Amino acid sequence: MNTEYDVIIIGGGPAALAAAVYTCRALLKTVILEKKFLGGQLVATELIENYPGFPDVISGFDLTQRMESQAKRFGVEIRYEEVSKLSVENGLKIVTTDTDVYSSHIVILASGADPKKLGVPGEAEFYGRGGSYCATCDGAFYRDKNVVVVGGGDSAITEGIFLTKYAHTVQLVHRREEFRATKIYLDEAFSNPKIKVILNTVIESIHGKEKVDGVVVQNIVSKEKKDIPCDGVFVFVGSTPNTGFLGNLLCVDAGCHIETNIHMETEIAGLYAVGDIRKNSYRQIATAIGDGVTAAIAAEHTLAELKASGKVRK
Ligand SMILES: Cc1cc2nc3c(=O)[nH]c(=O)nc-3n(C[C@H](O)[C@H](O)[C@H](O)COP(=O)(O)OP(=O)(O)OC[C@H]3O[C@@H](n4cnc5c(N)ncnc54)[C@H](O)[C@@H]3O)c2cc1C
Repeated sequence: MNTEYDVIIIGGGPAALAAAVYTCRALLKTVILEKKFLGGQLVATELIENYPGFPDVISGFDLTQRMESQAKRFGVEIRYEEVSKLSVENGLKIVTTDTDVYSSHIVILASGADPKKLGVPGEAEFYGRGGSYCATCDGAFYRDKNVVVVGGGDSAITEGIFLTKYAHTVQLVHRREEFRATKIYLDEAFSNPKIKVILNTVIESIHGKEKVDGVVVQNIVSKEKKDIPCDGVFVFVGSTPNTGFLGNLLCVDAGCHIETNIHMETEIAGLYAVGDIRKNSYRQIATAIGDGVTAAIAAEHTLAELKASGKVRK
């Protein structure tokens, strides 16, 4: 059992990197356990206009690199391992990954969320062959091509705008009459000649041969179905929290989000939840950062109390 860390952070997105800056500066030995790559959803975001301190647009990739080098400057350790289980024994948290087992009195859950799927025929089959959840990653493959973007929130609109850099046309398919995206993004999208908006419409299926060559859509008011020929389908319809590895350890809400108090502490003392996995999170980079910082400061106090009471070695 690896017991060398004061703080174990599960996930390596913005919430985790912010927490690590604070715990490391407080001289707490900290490890981030990340299953894929640092940055999380940030890496899938091309145009970030609403993160304070960057008056011009910054890309998620650049912002991640800055956060990573800041956390590393203060000594965070990063291990690329997937956490498969978390259990608690007498206040000690046991974290099992695909290669190791760790224990610590303080664990910060920052495992974020993955894109929600449409659940229609062809979606899984054509993933990576015209189907995508990440414009930053795949947009450049669609130079002068025709793409469909699905969704009605900020992500769908901003990523749709980004795709016009490459694509010949972007057809924005939204199941409702109105968008819930921010007005400034909508104004930009509506004034972009490459973007066509299709409202009250759902995707029925995605089809093609080797690659996507179209989608079947249905208007939910008229019930009319039609085929939209396209080369790519980008889906931005929300996200699902990565809380599966917790089993029944914590109560989660219907959407699988974890409840915390104002210190980001869950119902289990010394176990914190931050960022997109937290109930009532606004699911933004800035709010994830704030959560991470709050949990880190609270964890520092908790650990100091545990040391003072002799429950943890100084
Ligand atoms: C397309 C898109 C555009 C967006 N645009 C903006 C924007 O313009 N402005 C804004 O403020 N927000 C934006 N967001 C939202 C923002 O990216 C998220 O709110 C933020 O990234 C959440 O941070 P997080 O650290 O909580 O989680 P995440 O960013 O989801 O990171 C979680 C990390 O945990 C890892 N992980 C998961 N499970 C495990 C496990 N079992 N073991 C180890 N590691 C694990 C994941 O691999 C991931 O790296 C956008 C999101 C998307 C998808």
